[in-house]
Amino acid sequence: MILVNGQALLAEQDGRYLRRAIELSRTARERGNRPFGAVIVAADGAVLAEAWNATAETGDCTAHAETEAVRRASPAHPRERFAGATMYASGEPCVMCAGAIFWCNIGRVVFGIDAVSLRVFRGERAEQRDAELSCRDVFAASPHPIECIGPALREEASEPHQGFWRR
Ligand SMILES: [Zn+2]
Repeated sequence: MILVNGQALLAEQDGRYLRRAIELSRTARERGNRPFGAVIVAADGAVLAEAWNATAETGDCTAHAETEAVRRASPAHPRERFAGATMYASGEPCVMCAGAIFWCNIGRVVFGIDAVSLRVFRGERAEQRDAELSCRDVFAASPHPIECIGPALREEASEPHQGFWRR
């Protein structure tokens, strides 16, 4: 991972799909949810799933974008296909989503805004705080390798969070 000003330098394709995940984070917000989006892309470039955070519109507290994308893609493809796939997430995956990425056998993650920067938006309200365990710590405990790239496009990924979180 090449860092420039504390951010990962992305290949053209990675930038394109991460921007799509950020676009989906705007969709999430427009629909009244927390602004997060995710895309799973296979090694051959096939999009296996797209999703946005749907916790508000479904009432399901586990309907995070990455976990939603795993729920859609996982029943439709063999486990081996995911080893070469990438999860693009507009925000750094939480503990639950990192677990879903692990169980899905996804071999690579590219994320936008990092959890530490997100906490500035989340503030101190208990219901907005996340569990402070990095996805990299979850992936490091995996018996199969999970490459993790990010933060990247932090400014673009931050934009949908402006003015969203309650103070
Ligand atoms: Zn999550």
